[in-house]
Amino acid sequence: MLRAIPLPALNDNYIWLLAAPSGEALVVDPGEPGPVLQAAAEGLRPAAIVLTHHHPDHVAGAAALAQQFGIPCHAPHDERITAATARVAHGDQVRVDALDLTLDVIGVPGHTLSHVAFHGAGHLFCGDTLFSLGCGRMFEGQPAQFLASLERLAALPATTAVCCGHEYTEANGRFARAVEPDNPTRDLRLAEVRALRARGLPSLPSTLGSELDCNPFLRIDQPGLQASLARHLGRPPQDRNEAFGALRLWKDTFKQ
Ligand SMILES: [Zn+2]
Repeated sequence: MLRAIPLPALNDNYIWLLAAPSGEALVVDPGEPGPVLQAAAEGLRPAAIVLTHHHPDHVAGAAALAQQFGIPCHAPHDERITAATARVAHGDQVRVDALDLTLDVIGVPGHTLSHVAFHGAGHLFCGDTLFSLGCGRMFEGQPAQFLASLERLAALPATTAVCCGHEYTEANGRFARAVEPDNPTRDLRLAEVRALRARGLPSLPSTLGSELDCNPFLRIDQPGLQASLARHLGRPPQDRNEAFGALRLWKDTFKQ
């Protein structure tokens, strides 16, 4: 049984470990080496690194860790990621023998164009594409592309543990409540998140089923959200892509 461990890093990032009882561990998006070195000092043995996208807060620790532990670093085809020792694209698989783990690579353009997610052993490592109660900023992609990426993730089993790149859940929840006021399941999730954060604990991993019930970016077809978007735009959105784009833009300018 593999266990997902979020290591807080930088301001609000998580470096994820997927660890076997033996101590061997996959390392996801090490934006700095320190937290992984600390975990290694406490007995974890990094077996491989995977990177979801090129942003420094996800990759800056990868080269040093790959070298120090002599392990591969799997990353998307993007020359901005210089730490890669192997390149992956949508439909590929990453095999980590030490963990008896096979990860499926899912292309998820939107936050960045070369962004990928990794899915295996019931866990999804989605970087800055899907957050709990939110999604990443659309820096490089287009609404239709980003929406298609989120729908690719939404099609995974509802029990999938969603391991996101940042602790943004509480702030995302305030926006979620503003755009879809009537969602009791989301209110319960937000209360749970606040209780966890008050104790200094991560709000993650979430589950895909919870996100489908609570995350407005996976719920643009819901009547409550459609009504909010129509009020916000002054007319109903023309289609799902416009609805998603408008919701993403609204979040960018939302004042807490
Ligand atoms: Zn990013």
